[in-house]
Amino acid sequence: MIRAILTIDDISSENTIDIVKYLNEKGITAVMFAEGQRIERDPDPAVFALQHGMIVGNHSYSHPAFSSLKVEEAAREIERCERQLDLLYRSAGVERRFRPFRFPYGDKGGANKAALQEYLADNGFHKLKDTQIPYPWWKEQGLDRDIDTLWTFDFAEYRIRRDSGFTLEDVFGRINDPAPESGAALLAENGNHILLLHAHDETEALVPGYYRILIDTLLQKGVVFDMPEFL
Ligand SMILES: [Zn+2]
Repeated sequence: MIRAILTIDDISSENTIDIVKYLNEKGITAVMFAEGQRIERDPDPAVFALQHGMIVGNHSYSHPAFSSLKVEEAAREIERCERQLDLLYRSAGVERRFRPFRFPYGDKGGANKAALQEYLADNGFHKLKDTQIPYPWWKEQGLDRDIDTLWTFDFAEYRIRRDSGFTLEDVFGRINDPAPESGAALLAENGNHILLLHAHDETEALVPGYYRILIDTLLQKGVVFDMPEFL
């Protein structure tokens, strides 16, 4: 059995609503990480996501690389997004029970890593439950103690661009890779994953319905999607 929790980054986008409708069809609840400036500009897709059962988390206001920021600047980025998320939950009429956070690019802040983890702990952020993750490197790298939400498998579908030379075939190559350089093999028996996908209109333009293609593939392979829980 292979189990997974789905996370989707960089909402709002034009394809957010279609992604949510698809997930509802399949009975999958995702944690969708929102960029503050995007939901400020275009809150409706994120409101739709909340009203249709998704959990929306903080992905900073303007998506900077946190290792290039001072701690105070990092805190400001997170707080500005928090304000937008509070507004969003209020307009959706949905109670905000969980406050997960994901660093843009998974960049935990370099020299400020410890200070930022402390900031997240002190400011009521919630850790996605990860005690089910079986990979030794998860603990070896201390990821079991971090508050922010990293991932065990990145589809990397955002790398599909007109001139990147990276195609949907390469994404399937990653899905089927039995020994990836980073992360865990997606389809290894008894796997338990936090999956990373993106809501990018640029990807949608090149591979319409990419999220459907990828998740349908996983469902066909017998991957079971679990409800996200928090510690
Ligand atoms: Zn992002």
